[in-house]
Amino acid sequence: MPLMNGKQYRDGLRKMKHKVYIMGERISNPVDHPIVIPSQNAVAMTHDLAFDPKYEDLLTVTSSLTGKKVSRFTHVFQSIDDMVKKVKMARLLGQKTGTCFQRCATMDVANAMFIVTSEMDKKLGTHYHDRFLRFMREVQEKDYYVGVAMTDVKGDRSRRPHEQADPDMYLHVVEEKKEGIVVRGAKSNQTGSINSQYTIVAPTAAMKKEDRDYAVAFATPTDAEGIIHIYGRNPGDTRKLEDCSIDLGNPRFSGQETLLVFDNVFVPWERVFLYKEVEFAGRIPFLFAAGHRQSYGGCKAGVSDVLIGAVKLLAEYNGLDEMPHIRDKIIDMVRLTETIYCCGIATGVEGVKTEAGSYFVDQLLGNVCKLNVGALPFEMARLAVDVTGGILGTMVSEKDLKSPEIGKYVEKYMKGLPEVPTEHKMRLIFLIQNILFGINSVGYMVESVHGAGPPAAQKSSLNRLVDFEEKKNLAKEISGIP
Ligand code: SF4
Ligand code: FE
Repeated sequence: MPLMNGKQYRDGLRKMKHKVYIMGERISNPVDHPIVIPSQNAVAMTHDLAFDPKYEDLLTVTSSLTGKKVSRFTHVFQSIDDMVKKVKMARLLGQKTGTCFQRCATMDVANAMFIVTSEMDKKLGTHYHDRFLRFMREVQEKDYYVGVAMTDVKGDRSRRPHEQADPDMYLHVVEEKKEGIVVRGAKSNQTGSINSQYTIVAPTAAMKKEDRDYAVAFATPTDAEGIIHIYGRNPGDTRKLEDCSIDLGNPRFSGQETLLVFDNVFVPWERVFLYKEVEFAGRIPFLFAAGHRQSYGGCKAGVSDVLIGAVKLLAEYNGLDEMPHIRDKIIDMVRLTETIYCCGIATGVEGVKTEAGSYFVDQLLGNVCKLNVGALPFEMARLAVDVTGGILGTMVSEKDLKSPEIGKYVEKYMKGLPEVPTEHKMRLIFLIQNILFGINSVGYMVESVHGAGPPAAQKSSLNRLVDFEEKKNLAKEISGIP
């Protein structure tokens, strides 16, 4: 059954044995934990929309591996259209959830691994590609969400992996057995690790020959023995433990980030996709990043749409929406949103067919896309804060609104237009808080800068990708320098 709905997805997770800690406590049933539920709702949306005739063209596709209808999140790109639809799908899901729906990593890592395993086999005579395809067929058949564990904790950033005082600062192979390998280390900022069935672990950067033990890529179930998920805090996580909905701003959906510990985890050879091939280690994060940097042009545009809607509606509720300076600011938010979306679409349109047989995004544009995503949402946030007003940081709580003693004051004095219930204004203010301050997820701001790598990483990629010789020659020719 290649497609499962949200309920089937959740029921499947319930059978897994994820070892999860939230604020120091072992959580026996994460699927039903109030801090985890909204993040699983966001992933469940990627399943449910696949069954909606209105969206199935975006959410599903015919697999090149199985010939069956599968989730686009598990697809290896076969055309430019695939890479454009990917961004449209991400924008749609950003609009429907108002948060990080987490699953894009599957698509982006699958497309990177498809190419790198093929390149390795051609150059080294290995058999990684077939192995990887066997894994991907299973992923497609079972409609898995496969996360990506790339970001090592890194310890002393000025030292290479093998130079670290503690060798576990980068995930590495600690034992080689007949049946497979044993790895140890930790990966931080792990999007949706508890919500995924598998994760693909790969190096965080290029490796040198002294770092051979750190050059390893593999897939593992996220509930394998030795894997521990430690939940990351957000400014408003404990609001989810209160009996409230208004204060959450986005009561149904959130992202999820964890610290993922690998405490001597066994991986069978069948799931190992790169083993000590140092020269290819950097290819995986390089290609994954270019693809994932495109995804942000979709998801963050979708969340921005929600933000613009909230700001516009709140301005209306306050009787402000006809004021020229308010309209001007909201139109600027639209301009910024469409700019990042254009980057995502162009990254797909300018993609190319690869020697491995798949299509891949334009890497230069993908990096430019993410650089803009790392900057423009901050301008959008400034405009949203400006239009919303100081109440964004001072709004009283749902419990005050519902209090038998003081509720009447909140209702009366927090009101805008007389016909609009105060509760509706409060909901919008908390929604804007949620998006801008990361109230129940990693958030629009931090993730826009650091997701798929920080701006410095994009600039370093661009340094390798930009053809400066060509540009210099243009200048020479125009100016008459021989
Ligand atoms: Fe997908 Fe965006 Fe979340 Fe990354 S930040 S996983 S691209 S929704
Ligand atoms: Fe992300």
